[in-house]
Amino acid sequence: MGKKVFVLAEWREGLLRNVSFEAIAAGKQVADDGEIVAVLIGEAVQSYTQELISYGADRVITIENDQLKHYTSDGYSQCLLAALEKEKPDALVMGHTALGKDLSPKIANRLGAGLISDVTAIEFSDNQPIFVRPIYSGKAFEKKKIIDDFIFITIRPNNIEPLKRDDTRTGEISSIEVEVKDLRMTIKEVIRKASVGVDLSEAKVVVAGGRGVKSADGFKPLQELADVLGGAVGASRGACDADYCDYSLQIGQTGKVVTPDLYIACGISGAIQHLAGMSNSKVIVAINKDPEANIFQVADYGIVGDLFEVVPLLTEELRKMKMAST
Ligand SMILES: Cc1cc2nc3c(=O)[nH]c(=O)nc-3n(C[C@H](O)[C@H](O)[C@H](O)COP(=O)(O)OP(=O)(O)OC[C@H]3O[C@@H](n4cnc5c(N)ncnc54)[C@H](O)[C@@H]3O)c2cc1C
Repeated sequence: MGKKVFVLAEWREGLLRNVSFEAIAAGKQVADDGEIVAVLIGEAVQSYTQELISYGADRVITIENDQLKHYTSDGYSQCLLAALEKEKPDALVMGHTALGKDLSPKIANRLGAGLISDVTAIEFSDNQPIFVRPIYSGKAFEKKKIIDDFIFITIRPNNIEPLKRDDTRTGEISSIEVEVKDLRMTIKEVIRKASVGVDLSEAKVVVAGGRGVKSADGFKPLQELADVLGGAVGASRGACDADYCDYSLQIGQTGKVVTPDLYIACGISGAIQHLAGMSNSKVIVAINKDPEANIFQVADYGIVGDLFEVVPLLTEELRKMKMAST
């Protein structure tokens, strides 16, 4: 029987995040021909509604309030719980993002529901969804199912393909009024630490630097390569600890987990804690002058050489290819 699936849509700086569309696609798999209801929470979110419908939402519920300009777990949980109470869906899907990681346990606790977090794929057995998630820092995968009536999952960004965008789709848009009260904190301003550009967590291409870049300036050729590929720059903790870059770029067990189509590791040895954040990338290229470096164990393509020679050469060749194709 078709299920009613709630999907929490995420937006940032005037744009819906890709993970919202991926969550709709995940919801569609769970829904079994049921209904996808996207929930949009914020100060002024009407402008995002049609795009959610174009990507597969059947309905959109907006919850607007001037206290929701910035995410707080108190504010968002009050709104989401009110919508869940009103609509009583069979499932809830959200991104395994900073927001989702913060909000989902609170919602699960309030609902007394089970939660399967960090899902990377959905399979089916006897018509029941089975959720696949990496464990032991990506070294193994476990498959879990929810035995309650209510399905609650968070999905890892960049793993579940969004549905094809169709701007001719139509859907119902409604709003719910929620009195947001007793906020324990309000956020006055958010100041970005990292430079503006492609969001590291959602980037299709990541060019990451390690201690081998040797200085903050050493990241410049990596940034140039990332720019040509339309990607983002990331880093190992070694590079962050050495003060070559900001910790917001750190990838790994205690940093961000990324799953881009292409990950280029430059001057990174491949410590287990770093691999935990990137080993599920679709194609991994490693550039390291030590042929024994552990990163080559997970790389699809390895270049043994000095990154300060290899990276500018790659950038130049890619630039030429881009010029030739335009
Ligand atoms: C609890 C805990 C959590 C951790 N969490 C993380 C985490 O989230 N993320 C993370 O990354 N690390 C994490 N670490 C640290 C991790 O163990 C490693 O110390 C770190 O990843 C090493 O960074 P690196 O590869 O940049 O440096 P190194 O290990 O020093 O490697 C530098 C590499 O650069 C190569 N190199 C040098 N010069 C050049 C050149 N000119 N051209 C090409 N190659 C060159 C060298 O051959 C070497 O392989 C954690 C550690 C602990 C204990």
